[in-house]
Amino acid sequence: MNIPHRAGLENFPSYRQGKTPADADGLKAFKLSSNENPYPPLPSVVQAVTRAVSGINLYPEIAAEELTGALAARWAVEPENIALGTGSVEVASQIIHAATNPGDQVMFAWRSFEAYPLLVTAAGATPQPIPLAPDGGHDLAAMAAAVTPKTRVVFVCNPNNPTGNVLSAGAVESFIQAVPSSTLVVLDEAYLHFNRAEDTAVGIDLFRKYPNVAVLHTFSKAYGLAGLRLGYAVAAPGLVTALRKVAVPFGVTALAQEAGLASLRAEDELQERIDTLVSERGRVYDALLEAGLPVLPSEANFLWLQSGDRTGTLTELFERNALSIRAFPGEGIRITIGDAEANNRILAVARQATALLAPLP
Ligand code: PMP
Repeated sequence: MNIPHRAGLENFPSYRQGKTPADADGLKAFKLSSNENPYPPLPSVVQAVTRAVSGINLYPEIAAEELTGALAARWAVEPENIALGTGSVEVASQIIHAATNPGDQVMFAWRSFEAYPLLVTAAGATPQPIPLAPDGGHDLAAMAAAVTPKTRVVFVCNPNNPTGNVLSAGAVESFIQAVPSSTLVVLDEAYLHFNRAEDTAVGIDLFRKYPNVAVLHTFSKAYGLAGLRLGYAVAAPGLVTALRKVAVPFGVTALAQEAGLASLRAEDELQERIDTLVSERGRVYDALLEAGLPVLPSEANFLWLQSGDRTGTLTELFERNALSIRAFPGEGIRITIGDAEANNRILAVARQATALLAPLP
């Protein structure tokens, strides 16, 4: 049978999920490849989800009024400024579908969140990747210079996945001023809660000032709800209306809505876990640096080793130690900060790496 399919789809890459590790040499395995939160859900969140389970014979409330209202209150905006999705990845996809016509361009730094080019291509738009600066940060000057009349959307990932680099408020504001006001600038702040940089750009502040700025947030990272799929945009009402039109109907389940609400009520408790992860990030960063590994400073819940052609050797070493990390052959390795036991294992790998690798030039 000749199954209908879209031309070119056979060449279309699939999203690669971070690997699940195998136990090795009797070592407990840890998955440090997907920037997930290592802690189990809070008891209050489990309770809220458990209560909602008894209603799963029904479709969820499509407008998700309570959660939308709680998020609006959380950020001191109007409910008309909040668009929900099944993870911020779906909201990013909604933005591309709502803002582009076939052949329009969508710009992003590269390397950055791997879904950007896939989402852009799937929507029939054209990816416009702009190489990162050598320090792993966005080259905002090059990005501004590359904007064309067809560039409808620019994703700015702060902190950047996978390099962890942060953009300053001044740099992002100058960028917004440099691009036409008809170009939508989307600040993807999936790792917002881990970002302690004093001069960082803050999406919500820029959104309040510039109508062509939208902000993407997720419940997957700091809130630890990756498995429930919940994210949202804060954006101008006109864009939010368009996003709701292109969203998958009933995508955000009642379980996700209740878990989101319970998480917003438990922000103090979650903050302790975030603080622990931030402090663990510092501990692991120091150890990797001391071991002579090419680690970059990071304001996210992961670290980036700019390991270049040593990536293969180092990846094998992590895997022999039952740690799955995210390797980009020839470029580098992204390591998610885990719980203390997982992080101690990273430190052990770092010590082995010092012995294995010749000193860096
Ligand atoms: N943006 C960035 C920068 C990410 O790293 C991720 C997850 N890896 C997402 C968005 C999407 O997260 P989610 O769909 O789980 O909200």
